[in-house]
Amino acid sequence: MSKKILITGGSGLVGRHMQDILPEAVYISSTDYDLTNLDAVHTMMETHIPDTVIHLAARVGGLLDNMKYQVEYLEENIQMNTNILNKCHEFNVDRVITTLSTCIYPDKVDIYPMREDDLFSGPPPPSNFNYAMAKRCMAAHIDSYVSQYSKKWCYLIPCNLYGEYDKYSEHNSHFVAALIKKIHDATDNITLWGTGKPLRQYMYGGDLARIIKYMIDNDITENFNVAPPYVYSINEMAKIALKAINKNNFNINYDTSKPDGQFRKDVDTSKLLNIIGDFDFTSLEAGIKLTYNKIKNKQMLFIENPKLYKDYEKESKNN
Ligand code: NAP
Repeated sequence: MSKKILITGGSGLVGRHMQDILPEAVYISSTDYDLTNLDAVHTMMETHIPDTVIHLAARVGGLLDNMKYQVEYLEENIQMNTNILNKCHEFNVDRVITTLSTCIYPDKVDIYPMREDDLFSGPPPPSNFNYAMAKRCMAAHIDSYVSQYSKKWCYLIPCNLYGEYDKYSEHNSHFVAALIKKIHDATDNITLWGTGKPLRQYMYGGDLARIIKYMIDNDITENFNVAPPYVYSINEMAKIALKAINKNNFNINYDTSKPDGQFRKDVDTSKLLNIIGDFDFTSLEAGIKLTYNKIKNKQMLFIENPKLYKDYEKESKNN
């Protein structure tokens, strides 16, 4: 019997990669149902009666947004997650898969890379404290449903993502999206913040979507980190991005008056590899090349105004 799958956050970076590989699922965005509203979540469940829910929706944003809207990051995420889990229980949803994030791990641990059981071993970074606490609450909430009601529910802990569906407006973008835009706009050099030495783990969004689909298809119900097996310094990442975009001759400058951020926050992926075996991760160079080729002609035009891009996409779909 085929599964009835409902995916929240369907219009987001991960949701749109899911749409590419799992078109038969029902995709929900905030224009369909406001998940912070319990009645709306009830109506959504009543309308679709899913047996599998992939809960991706979240208030997600950059560092400045997190610092500016601390109350909203805590309240909206806790409300959405609580409403979803509460109604999944009421409607007897068999499988629930949700996403935490590696940025909710403790700010510092003794041993890197971080393992799944480090999650509660120290406070998260101050810069995204409330987002992290809301995600940690969801982890505790799912663990409680599993222990009290023997649910087949779980969470993934993905590292930072990039890809063609990322946000490219400068003030709110992730590092790889900002790097691609910087290279696109530059003539012969780019300037990056800090020393270029911190280590980072980035994954192509389509890889996370493929792993979620693998979990659905193979009935996997474990919680685990999801990240590629490579970790690069900021400087190495910038060089890889320049190569992927065919700008090998550009210089990279570092503004050392600006902060570096955390030196490292990489996670251990042995549990993931034990569960799914050899996974064909997209290399950083291939992922950036793929992303750039998909966005350079259209999305770049709308980079400064993401709303215009949404309108443009809606129109293209209608035509
Ligand atoms: P995203 O691109 O920011 O998309 C967020 C999604 O949540 C959108 O579909 C948005 O709908 C929906 N949403 C927000 N508020 C809502 C509300 N009140 N009611 C209904 N829907 C609402 O996020 P993403 O990057 O795809 O992330 C997906 C999941 O992965 C999140 O749980 C995130 O925490 C996690 N994650 C992301 C990263 C990353 O680097 N992106 C890394 C690790 C983990 P609208 O489009 O209609 O606003």
